[in-house]
Amino acid sequence: MLANPESPSLPNRPNQVFVSRNLRLDQISIIGFDMDYTLARYHRKHLETLAHRITLDKLLKRGYPDAIKSIKYDPDFVIRGLTVDKQLGNILKLDRHSHVGHVFHGRRKLTNEERRKVYRSEKIHFEPPRFATVDTLFSLPEMCLYADLVDFFEQYDGPKIDNWQLFVDTRECIDEAHKDNSLKSIVTADLPHYVEKEPMLAKTLHKLRSSGKKLFLLTNSYYKYTDKLMSYLLNDELSEYPAWQAYFDVVIVGASKPGFFTKNEPFAKLDEDGTIIERPIKKFERSGLYQGGNRKSFEKFVRYSGEEILYVGDHIYGDILRSKKASLWRTALVVEELEDEITIISENTDLISKINLLEKERRELDALANLQRQELSSMEKAEEKTQETSVYSRLKKDRDRIKRQLRQVSKRINTLETQLEQQFNKNWGLVFKEGQETSRFGKQVNDYACLYTSRVTNFFGYSNYQYFRGAPELLPHEQT
Ligand code: IMP
Ligand code: MG
Repeated sequence: MLANPESPSLPNRPNQVFVSRNLRLDQISIIGFDMDYTLARYHRKHLETLAHRITLDKLLKRGYPDAIKSIKYDPDFVIRGLTVDKQLGNILKLDRHSHVGHVFHGRRKLTNEERRKVYRSEKIHFEPPRFATVDTLFSLPEMCLYADLVDFFEQYDGPKIDNWQLFVDTRECIDEAHKDNSLKSIVTADLPHYVEKEPMLAKTLHKLRSSGKKLFLLTNSYYKYTDKLMSYLLNDELSEYPAWQAYFDVVIVGASKPGFFTKNEPFAKLDEDGTIIERPIKKFERSGLYQGGNRKSFEKFVRYSGEEILYVGDHIYGDILRSKKASLWRTALVVEELEDEITIISENTDLISKINLLEKERRELDALANLQRQELSSMEKAEEKTQETSVYSRLKKDRDRIKRQLRQVSKRINTLETQLEQQFNKNWGLVFKEGQETSRFGKQVNDYACLYTSRVTNFFGYSNYQYFRGAPELLPHEQT
């Protein structure tokens, strides 16, 4: 793990833990983990294709036309962090200022002019109910299906379904797929096909426990599913642990996050088969198995609170943003796309430096062209231009040359940016960036996740006393 030649005390960059807010691991007494897409990484293409197919079947059962059967899942169409406009049937990528970058209507990319007309003529708040965000990897199949349905119904000769209703129907069907066991029964019947087994997971949890930290599991999945996944991932891994439950001091399933952080639902106690035996509970027991509950009671029961608790999850809203807004819990976000994103960035350092140099050149040319404009305008006001003085015409020619140069530089920047972005996702580019800006998702990560990393097992590369320090934040005037 200490294989980073540039910095021997750190893991390689794609496996580092990044810091938005300083955190001393030795001051954390108890660490909580989400399960799905946090402890349990899925083989995404398999799971997403399955979720897409089941959702499509449910739409057919609701009376959608048979012809939608031919819609196939495209795992590369969307990425995490996008925003859906239910009214117009568009999918957008916003930057940290909520400026709209890429836009697709169905599967067609809007031109810059179309984009400007729709989203730049008035102030829009990209909030519900008109807008919804793709907060988790679980949402990718429904977004892709939604885009295909928008296209399908635009061409369809039969009764139309409007964009908003298409969104509602797709959402309801995938929601049902998660709740009615149609998805989970197939996943649990073939776990190796759907769930990635991480060799370092057991060792990572063990290492964290070894310095006296308590661990807990807090998942929205219910017991039967949790038991199957966690048994697959942790049973028979380390001899010190007879079964997966032994890695955790408390297990909470069916937690209904984000409600767990904000509401007051009571805890229920479960027996070993996941059947409720007491609700509400009278007291909390070590190694107990619980369902539901809420943050405040949890803190009282475990006798830890606020900044002593670190919660690790993958859902920027349900796991991170809500817990951060409602409590003092420290947070770590798992973003598995980070691994590819960092690798692509490190393989393209020359291209990125070229873009940065061109950006600098663009700023200078822009400022120069505007100074020339000002000067020409003053001359025009003073009616010097009527005399067509050689100074005036020379300046005018010079400005035309600078403007031509500026256009060339802008075009070159666009070409190189597209070249870079296409290596990550040909439609949307990088998850953390929108053009030269931080994406809206990137900003949320920076604002609400104290730490972020590509997988839980990256913590194995650090000591239990690690002081995670962020780089000093530089304001624009402090940057050279
Ligand atoms: P967690 O990430 O471990 O908290 O659990 C996520 C759980 O939420 C899994 O059991 C998913 O199947 C489930 N889930 C994901 N998306 C949806 C949805 O849209 N509706 C209902 N359940 C969902
Ligand atoms: Mg999760």
